[in-house]
Amino acid sequence: MKTWLTGLFMALMWISVTCQTQAQVRKSNPFQKVRPLPVMLHPLPLHSVKPLGWLEREVRKNLNGFTGQLEQLAPDLLVEDQLYGKQRLSKQTPIKNLGALGEAGDWQVQYLWWNSETQSNWLDGWLRSAILLDDTTSLSKVEYLVARLLESQDEDGYLGIYDRALRYQFDNENGELWAKTTLLRALLGWYDYQKSPKLLLAIEQAVANVMIAYPMGRSQPFKSTNPNASGLTHGLAFTDVLDQLHAITGKEVYLDYALFLYEDFSRQTLNEDAQWSKLMNIKLPLHGHGVHTYEHLRSVAAAYYASGNPLLGQALNLFLKKIEKTLAPSGGPISDEFIKGRQGHPDIGYEFCALHELMAGWISLLAKTGKPQYADRAEHLLFNAVLGNTHPTESSICYLKQDNAWVLQGGNNGDTTDHHQTRYRYSPLHREAAVCCVPNAGRIFPYYIQNMWMKSTNGFTASLLGPSELQAMFEGAKVVIRQEADFPFDNRLRFSISSSSPKTFELRIRKPDWAKTFHSSIPCTEHNGYLVFRRLWGSATDFTLTFSSELKAKSTGQQERYFQSGPWVLCHALEAMPVVTRTWEKSNLRELAYYPVKKVKYGYNGGRLLEENKQLHHFKAPLVHPETGKTDVVLLQPMARTILRQVSFPLRSSQ
Ligand SMILES: [Zn+2]
Repeated sequence: MKTWLTGLFMALMWISVTCQTQAQVRKSNPFQKVRPLPVMLHPLPLHSVKPLGWLEREVRKNLNGFTGQLEQLAPDLLVEDQLYGKQRLSKQTPIKNLGALGEAGDWQVQYLWWNSETQSNWLDGWLRSAILLDDTTSLSKVEYLVARLLESQDEDGYLGIYDRALRYQFDNENGELWAKTTLLRALLGWYDYQKSPKLLLAIEQAVANVMIAYPMGRSQPFKSTNPNASGLTHGLAFTDVLDQLHAITGKEVYLDYALFLYEDFSRQTLNEDAQWSKLMNIKLPLHGHGVHTYEHLRSVAAAYYASGNPLLGQALNLFLKKIEKTLAPSGGPISDEFIKGRQGHPDIGYEFCALHELMAGWISLLAKTGKPQYADRAEHLLFNAVLGNTHPTESSICYLKQDNAWVLQGGNNGDTTDHHQTRYRYSPLHREAAVCCVPNAGRIFPYYIQNMWMKSTNGFTASLLGPSELQAMFEGAKVVIRQEADFPFDNRLRFSISSSSPKTFELRIRKPDWAKTFHSSIPCTEHNGYLVFRRLWGSATDFTLTFSSELKAKSTGQQERYFQSGPWVLCHALEAMPVVTRTWEKSNLRELAYYPVKKVKYGYNGGRLLEENKQLHHFKAPLVHPETGKTDVVLLQPMARTILRQVSFPLRSSQ
């Protein structure tokens, strides 16, 4: 007995010492795997959610416009350059002009990978749009393109843009991982649709090839003699591929590899905001290239969930606090191109790429945590920054745009000092800057739509709202849920639910953070920001859900006022004159600059706004004219689908 007790005591001591040691290691090593965290919501395959109403029209406009026509607007970049195939980069490849204007020197090197991003992000947006709309013409073209890309895969699994002499041999700028990331994300989208085991095998073989070339814990994929290595650090987004492969296959090794990539990225000398030690310093604001910084949010989240290490959780929380400081009223993050430690500002531009990357980051956090606050952020960004950047009637976007947009002629609000600056105007291509934003503009709606509905523990969750149809299986029954109202243009949502055989499951619908009250035509409970409908669902159940909103006056970081009504950030829209700056043969698409008919920068004296049209969220605002000092009554409307506008109003008294 005594021996047994002594043995137990010794065992407990050993466990205690081991736990203490593990705790100490955890304290000193943020990258140590503790225990992977469970993901709360599970995204469904791409074709499970179909867009309806305005979302369908938006995808169709892109598919008929810049997404569907991009290969005709720039065939040399999109089709003729077979970067992944016959024209892989080698030491003999001459420097090519891919349309980006820049200085000679270091910048030239990175141009070599640039086209891979253009091609693959375009393919990703194109195939997802085609799948969502069942567009058979585009689907057959995609099938051909995907087959051609898969033919380029080497026997050892290599899928990428470098020949044998160059691949995996870098100590400086390169696009090895980034070119694969963009391509594999597209192929995973295609796999979602086709469910071809052969395609999944090809993707897994391509990833295995990376894991052999850059072995976990025994290589340094992010090593660079130059701390400014743009393509290299874009490559951290390879965690997107790993995250999704884990979701499909359940293989934990993909998460382990994501953690390894983030560790190596953090340990190298790189000018990047998302490195662990920089994130942990809350006094250090974000400085880097906006698109990189915001896309890395997903990688930090992936590493945290792969490890469960609280020190990574801390870094993620601090990262979110830093990002929050960069946001304009619309939710657009500073990214014109570098953040440079600045605070969110309605006069500072955001890049369309950054809008997509940050929205995808919010959605990734929504799925991982199940917290509705991330859905609120994704919606706010889409409804205001994205719809406020996208041309209301033509198929074009601004590469850079601000909340307060006084003129869109190329430079920042009329700045003509840099004659190369063409980003602040509408184009279906933006070739002079880089063909990055337009391909991402083709991705943003498909990514939003796919994630509107997710699988939750006891049923389905509608986190992102809007007109859509979900078709999914629940315990062997086919469930169809339609939401046809044009939310957020209409705050009265109509749901109809049918199940092929009676099933009890939970339907959770997010209550938006701006909703003052809600009314449901059938009973529900409210729990953690969601409205929960749990019942036996049969052949047909219809119900309506209405959200009421109120007008709110808010402050920018610069103490200017702006207004929000429900989901919409309001603006004073300026009458704008278009000037066509470019057209293309055999295409109806155009590049357009806009000049204000009259530029007046109004102030606000604290006066009361009156509702003009409840449905349209139109208000009459008493605003102070800067020259007369008198109060004019000015119409405020949602900034979505406006061109030139004033969103924030400096405080000033009227005469
Ligand atoms: Zn871009």
